[in-house]
Amino acid sequence: MKIETIAVHAGAEVDSSTGAVAPPIHLSTTYEHGPASEEIHGYSYIREKNPTQSRLEEALAQLDGGEAAAVFSSGMAAGVAILQTLPPGSNVIFPDDIYVTFRRLYRDFLPNWGIHSTVVDQQNLAGLKAAIRPNTRLVWVDTPSNPLMKISDIKAISEIAHASNVPVLVDNTFATPIIQRPIGLGADIVLYSTTKYFGGHSDVQGGALVLGKRSDLVKKLLSVRQVLGSVSSPFNSWLVLRGLRTLPCRMERHSSNANAIATALKKASNVEAVFYPGLLTHEGHDIAKRQMKYFGGMLSFQVRGGYDQAVRVASRVKLFLNATSLGGTESLIEHRASNEGEYSTAQPNLLRLSVGLEHPDDIIEDLLQALR
Ligand SMILES: *Cc1c(COP(=O)(O)O)cnc(C)c1O
Repeated sequence: MKIETIAVHAGAEVDSSTGAVAPPIHLSTTYEHGPASEEIHGYSYIREKNPTQSRLEEALAQLDGGEAAAVFSSGMAAGVAILQTLPPGSNVIFPDDIYVTFRRLYRDFLPNWGIHSTVVDQQNLAGLKAAIRPNTRLVWVDTPSNPLMKISDIKAISEIAHASNVPVLVDNTFATPIIQRPIGLGADIVLYSTTKYFGGHSDVQGGALVLGKRSDLVKKLLSVRQVLGSVSSPFNSWLVLRGLRTLPCRMERHSSNANAIATALKKASNVEAVFYPGLLTHEGHDIAKRQMKYFGGMLSFQVRGGYDQAVRVASRVKLFLNATSLGGTESLIEHRASNEGEYSTAQPNLLRLSVGLEHPDDIIEDLLQALR
């Protein structure tokens, strides 16, 4: 079945008790069990699971071609859950360009859990291979990366890691399964902040892990989630489930809009560099073309000059909103270094765009007038 059809039908069974076509939301915190705590209806307590969350997990596993999925209260909670399953003494290899809160996590939190991290440029496959040690338990990939839109070769990295029996996780938040399906390329675990494109309307927070194989890891993850309390609430699960029905249509439009903007920015005289994998000049374009269906709705660019010139552009836009996050219907602009603060590695003249669903002419015109 094609992914557009899966997006509409996965986890969308008609409610058997009422015939409701839209999924019901059960807010109950507790479910009837037998006198010796026998599970009768498949649910027990809300911190474990709820029916809407189960529907969402079924849909996400299908979309990514995985055997199992676990949904969390946020993308961070999902990423942390995987790391919580690793024994102390483990080593994890992270990419140098990564979602900033994960950088904060590996700098400030992982050492306290006895987990060692190594940071590498994953464009350099020989360097990645050399970084794998006997205690390496995970290779973490973020492609396209945040905010530099670096492209990592999921297939090549998976082959290298698997040769040492190390599993690979791909943060697929920017691409979504509509554009890139890491499990099919050899990765073992896919991570999402569903707060972004899945929700799609800047009004819900969530996270997810999709696993290629239904292994012991699923049980460990569900245990971490239950004990640390990072389940997705019924209503948040419902909003993400609702969002994913239109995900294929939206990703197509986000991508064509971003492509038009990248092309226009590339010609603008006040722009020093544009980072968008759809551009022929992007260093990861060939790999992106192989592993992505479109090139996504995220891009970043450097304004000629420095910090002041970049902030000036961000202050002059009229349609773009200055706001963090991404994946909503509205176009957003952000001076990334000031948002990321002390953990940032972003250049002082870098602006990041989350390209929305407006008509491309209007958002291009807005950026060009701000750059003048
Ligand atoms: C936002 C984001 C996260 C974190 O997700 P939250 O839902 O905010 O916790 C992780 N990875 C990427 C690439 C993101 O953009």
